[in-house]
Amino acid sequence: MDVLISGAGVAGSALAYWLRHHGFTPTVVERAPRVLAGGGAVGFRGEALDVLDRMALLEQVHGLPAVIFTGELIGLLYEVTRQEVEYVFGDSIATLEQDAGGVRVTFERGRPRRFALVAGADGLHSRTRSLVFGPHQRFVRHLGLYTATFSLPNHLGLPDNGRLSSMPGKAAAVLSTCDNTGARAELHFASGPLAYDRDDAAQHKRIVAEQFAGEGRPIPRLLEEMSRAQDLFFDANAQVEMDRWSSGRVALLGDAGYCAAPTSGRGASQALIGAYVLAGELAVAGGDHTVAFATYEREMRGFVAEHQQMGREGADRFFMGTPIQEASGMADADAPGMAHAQIVRLKDYAPSFAATRP
Ligand SMILES: Cc1cc2nc3c(=O)[nH]c(=O)nc-3n(C[C@H](O)[C@H](O)[C@H](O)COP(=O)(O)OP(=O)(O)OC[C@H]3O[C@@H](n4cnc5c(N)ncnc54)[C@H](O)[C@@H]3O)c2cc1C
Repeated sequence: MDVLISGAGVAGSALAYWLRHHGFTPTVVERAPRVLAGGGAVGFRGEALDVLDRMALLEQVHGLPAVIFTGELIGLLYEVTRQEVEYVFGDSIATLEQDAGGVRVTFERGRPRRFALVAGADGLHSRTRSLVFGPHQRFVRHLGLYTATFSLPNHLGLPDNGRLSSMPGKAAAVLSTCDNTGARAELHFASGPLAYDRDDAAQHKRIVAEQFAGEGRPIPRLLEEMSRAQDLFFDANAQVEMDRWSSGRVALLGDAGYCAAPTSGRGASQALIGAYVLAGELAVAGGDHTVAFATYEREMRGFVAEHQQMGREGADRFFMGTPIQEASGMADADAPGMAHAQIVRLKDYAPSFAATRP
C-alpha cells in the first residue's frame, strides 16, 4: 500500500520508519534539498522515549551529550530509513485529488503519481493542510512570541551545557552541540504577528537584530554571529488547532496537525508519538483508513491537549519574566528507568517485534 508523506522532519521520517515496519510502502517528499540539520534543542520524556526505544534508537540518543537538536534526531531517523524508503528531496506537493480508490498527486517538479493515502507532516505552515483543510489563518494561533535559532562556534567553551540570559520581553540561550566544538543560539522575543517572507533569511536577520538592538552582553556577539549564520531558523511560536486531522485519504501529523509551539518543549516528542500511533492504527486496521484515522485521532487527542496546554503555559512564563528557563530542562533526556515508569498510554502495535526484544 503506497503512502505519500509530505515532509522529512521528525514526524515524516518517524512515520516512514513505522509504515515500513508494518509493511506499507512509504515515499517521502521533502521541500528542502536534503535532511535539515540544526533546529531547536529537544528533550524527550515519557511515551516519546518509549517510541525511540521501540525503534532501537534510545541508546543512540542517550549516547549523545545532554543537548540534542532536532536535526540530529532527523539525521538518525533518516539513516535508519533511507535504505528502504524512497526520499524525494527538493520537491513539494502541488495538488491533491482524492477519489474512491486513492489520491492523485501532482508535484512542483516531479511527474504526477497515485497513492493510496497521503500524510501531511510538513510542519506549522503545512501545504497539505492548506490544500485539504483550508487556509493557514483558520487553524494557526499565534502565542505572541518569536524564536530564532542558529549555529555558532562554541566561543563560550560550554561543556555539554547551556547559558541563558533574559531581558524584559526577550531571552537568549546558547547551548553547546554534540561534540562541544559548536553551539546553537536561541533568541526569543515578544511580538504580535509580523509580516515577512518566510524564505528570506536576510529579512529574518534584520527583524531579529532590530528587536535586540541596544541590549548588552552577550547579545551584540550573538547578533554578529547571527549575521554570518547559514542555518538561521526563524518562526512564530504558534499552535495549530483543528477539530479533525483527517479528511478522506489524507491525514495530518506533527506540527502540521497539532503544533504545540516550542514553548511546550514537546513538539518532537509529539511528532514521534503521532507517527507511531498513526502507522500502528493503519496496521491494526489492515490499511482501512476510515477506521485507522478515527482511532488515531481518538488516541492522540489527550496527548495533544496536554502538550498544547504546556505550550501556552510556557509562553505565559515567558511573559511573566521567567523566560524559557526550561531551555536546558527541555533538552534533558530523562534516564530510561524514569521513562519506563511513566509509560502507560501507548498501545503495542507490534507484538512480534516487541517479542524479539531482549
Ligand atoms: C527553539 C526550539 C526548541 C524546541 N524544543 C523542543 C523540545 O525541547 N522538545 C520537543 O519535543 N520539541 C521541541 N521543539 C519543537 C520541535 O522541533 C518541533 O515541534 C518538531 O520538530 C515538529 O516536527 P514536525 O516533523 O512535525 O515538523 P517540522 O520539524 O517543521 O518538519 C516539517 C518538514 O516538512 C518540510 N516541508 C515544509 N513544507 C513542505 C512542503 N510544502 N513540501 C514538502 N516538505 C515540506 C520541512 O522542510 C521540514 O523538513 C523545539 C523547537 C524549537 C524551534
